[in-house]
Amino acid sequence: MNNVVIRTEFLCKSFGKLDVLKDISTEFYQGEVVAILGPSGSGKSTFLRCINLLEQPTRGRIYFHDQEITKPKANIAKVRQHLVMVFQHFNLFPHMNVLQNVTYAPIKVKGINKQKAQEHGLELLAKVGLEPKANVYPSKLSGGQKQRVAIARALAMEPEMILFDEPTSALDPEMVKDVLEVMKALALSGMTMAIVTHEMGFAKEVANRIMFLDQGILAEDTTPGEFFQNPQCDRARQFLEKML
Ligand code: ADP
Ligand code: MG
Repeated sequence: MNNVVIRTEFLCKSFGKLDVLKDISTEFYQGEVVAILGPSGSGKSTFLRCINLLEQPTRGRIYFHDQEITKPKANIAKVRQHLVMVFQHFNLFPHMNVLQNVTYAPIKVKGINKQKAQEHGLELLAKVGLEPKANVYPSKLSGGQKQRVAIARALAMEPEMILFDEPTSALDPEMVKDVLEVMKALALSGMTMAIVTHEMGFAKEVANRIMFLDQGILAEDTTPGEFFQNPQCDRARQFLEKML
């Protein structure tokens, strides 16, 4: 039980009359790489955003380890330090250079001293192949480079889990590979990851587990082998026919 990082119980999210997530009960284990698949509008982004409380669930509970984070008194800022998000459109701070982007939250939010944060930041930039770009501003980077900075920035918080929302969907095809390679290395290093993606090859190769969302229902929650060879629901079969 100890190695469950996130557990959701009957998680529901509605926007007005629109029921977007319907009773999602599942768990994410430490070191797991979970690919979250599903048609556009099925609730994938909303699911990720509920997990780190960027959206407040309408009903149901979310636990981070043993702590219920959907309680009114939960420390949301603290939760987000442990469950960081990487977005499709990078969301870098445009007025900060690459190293400042990476060190800002560790210094401001975690109170790490500036020199330590910079040393660590440079190590992380080396890890994503961008140490030479430390002093460059985001506007001078390609999309793939921006996303690798965003990943280094996420890692700088030393999170327990990283939530990726279509990290390669905004990239030109030739940039996708570099970002996926960084993510694959992270997965192999044991990072707990939930990844909304349309990269089926990546999901098949790197994920340990596949969740398939269909109209807000967790329709499949299984191994990649099972999902890709023998999907159980019609919607998943149709989805795969289109994607593969
Ligand atoms: P996906 O990421 O799978 O494409 P989303 O989670 O973004 O799906 O959206 C699921 C549904 O919820 C869509 O119908 C979308 O329009 C709706 N939705 C998402 N966010 C909001 C919001 N903030 N307000 C109203 N409707 C929303
Ligand atoms: Mg989405």
